[in-house]
This record gives sequence, structure tokens and C-alpha cells, in this order.
Amino acid sequence: MDRAVAKQREGHPHVIKRKTPSGNSQHVGKIENGKEVEIIAENGDYSCVREVGDPSATGGWCKTYNLIPLTSRRRRSRSRGKMPRRVFDPANAAASSKGACQPMRVRLLHLSDTHGMHDQIEKRFPLQEADVLLHTGDLTNNGTWDQLRKVNEWFGKIRHRFKHIVVIAGNHDSSSASWCKRADVKKALTNATVLNHEVALDVFKDFGLQIYGSPWLASKGGTDPGGKGHLFHKIPSGIDVLMTHGPARHILDNISGHGKSFCPWGSSSDLNDAIVRAKPRVHLFGHLHEQRGVWQRDSSGRYIGGVEFKDHRGRAFPTKGPPPADWPCDVVSCNAMTSHPGKDHSKTHIAGSARLILAERATLGEPWRFVAA
Ligand SMILES: [Zn+2]
Repeated sequence: MDRAVAKQREGHPHVIKRKTPSGNSQHVGKIENGKEVEIIAENGDYSCVREVGDPSATGGWCKTYNLIPLTSRRRRSRSRGKMPRRVFDPANAAASSKGACQPMRVRLLHLSDTHGMHDQIEKRFPLQEADVLLHTGDLTNNGTWDQLRKVNEWFGKIRHRFKHIVVIAGNHDSSSASWCKRADVKKALTNATVLNHEVALDVFKDFGLQIYGSPWLASKGGTDPGGKGHLFHKIPSGIDVLMTHGPARHILDNISGHGKSFCPWGSSSDLNDAIVRAKPRVHLFGHLHEQRGVWQRDSSGRYIGGVEFKDHRGRAFPTKGPPPADWPCDVVSCNAMTSHPGKDHSKTHIAGSARLILAERATLGEPWRFVAA
């Protein structure tokens, strides 16, 4: 991790300002003049920094010219007896970032709930070209080492087609239920970035997109990802994409068929509170196969879309309705890809394709806009 001192430059603002994903600048008390900071990403004129010793923080953007490298004397005394660290040089960083990837468009590919049927996906639904593959859990049925090894082998075969593969665990991968073996998902999936209540830093460095993953907790049953002991309060404000395994309450969480009253299952109202607070622009999840679908805000600000899963009579499975009008997400995607035999009366199969979501912006520093393709 490169380190620098955030320092005022003559003629420049006294306090370093944070560049928020929505494009606004805001003062950040933690990253003030003279504070020692870690540089977690660089993108041309801007660097993303966080205060040293606060690894849980996702950091804030500031102008690269406000970062001064630690002096070599100070650095030597700090690193005595440790591995030498590369000295951060703002001039070099700016030069090396010239011509580096500063994309205006990133293609995200959302998969979920493949339940060990990953080999079947492309027989019916070839994976679209994309930059980042995102899987929101239930990669396996029981989370055993052997099942995860097979998923990891599949990732190994397809990883050349994507710049990053980012994954969180679902309840079938990490449940405390007796039918789950609870292998260490992070250790098992060496061909992917497994998020455990954290931002995908490599994606952030390459694309400037903040993707945060909140996996299913092993302590939770399939019905209730919220309630006591949940960790949704850790979801940081200002992220672009939130990955969870289950839905927020009343948003693609109904399990009752036509003619019956709505019945939420496997969703969390604590997650609603976290989303309203953190304001991610995209929420990706799975878990409820009969609620596979997408809500997308159109140019008039209304949500369009709905459930894509078809019941045994070929009807779209009912759902409660779009998110509230003031919901912060532009795209809400449930993409549990395997069928639900109890609801479509079929043998379990891959019923839906991966979902392509485009992130686009006109200039660096402008907020991303997200569209489900
Ligand atoms: Zn699930």
C-alpha cells in the first residue's frame, strides 16, 4: 500500500475534498491537511485515499496534487526490519496513469444461484462479453470443498474472458444448516475475488467502480438475512454496486403464486434501511428463484420491468411491485438462474441468462449511469 501525506498547497483549498460517486465534492474531516493516508486507487488527477489504520473505510477521492509522499527518512524509520515499500511519487503516478485504463463504459455481468449447474449455463445461454462477472451466491448446493472446487475450476476456464470475477457466498454456500459443510469460500475460490463485507479493490483500481459484497452469514437461516447479528450496517455510503444474496423487504421477495396474498421470504427490512442510507446505484442479489427479474429506472424516473420467472402456466410469477419512488437504485436485479421445480413444475435447469448491466459516464469524475441491457 502506498502512503502519502495529504497536504495543503498554496492557492488550493485548505481541506481536501472528497469526490463522491454522484460527482459532488464534500469536505472529509478524516483526510485533512497533514494527515497520513494510504492510497488505495489512482485515476489520473484523482486518487482515492483513506486514513492510515482505518482499513474498513473505503476512502474518498481527492486531487492527486494534494498528496505528498512520505520523506525517505521517515519512511526508512517506519520500515526498518520490514520489507521495503515503493515510494509514492505523485508525478510518476500521474505520468504512469496517462494512457492507463480510465474507462467511460464498464460491462457488468450478473449471475446468481447457479447451484452447481454452471456447466449447463452456456448450453442454452452463452455468457455475454463483459468486463466484470459478478455472482451473488448459491454457487453450490451444500458449500462443500468438492462442490466449491468444481466452481473454482469453471472460473479458471472462463476467467480469461473477464477482467475480474467477483463473488459473494449465498446461504447454500455458507449456511449453518446441517446440509451445508461450510468450507472456506474465500480459500476455495482462488480464481475469483470473494467479498466478505468489503469493496472489490482491484475493480476499483481498474475501473473506478465501487462494488461492495455483503455475503450471507453462516449464522442465518434461509428465511431471515436480517434481524439479530446482521452486518448490513457495514455497507458503506456512496458505493456504486451492492451485492447481497437476499433481497430487501418487499422488493422481489414474494413466494406466493397467483391468487394468493403476497408472502415475503428471505428478505430483510434491515437491508432496506442500509440501502436507503448507503444509496448504492445498483443492487444485485438472487436467492428467490421465482422472483428472477429486474427493476430499472427509466428516463422519467419510474421503475419499469418486473419478474421474468414463469410459473408452470407460463405466467410471470407475481411480485409486490416496483421499489418505492425514492429508492436510490437505478437497477435492482434478482438473477437466480436455476428454475424452481415447485413453481414451474420442471426438472431443475438453468432457466435464465446472465444479466448484462452497463455502467457509463461521459467524463472522469462524473457519476456512473447504470442500465440493464
Ligand atoms: Zn439462496
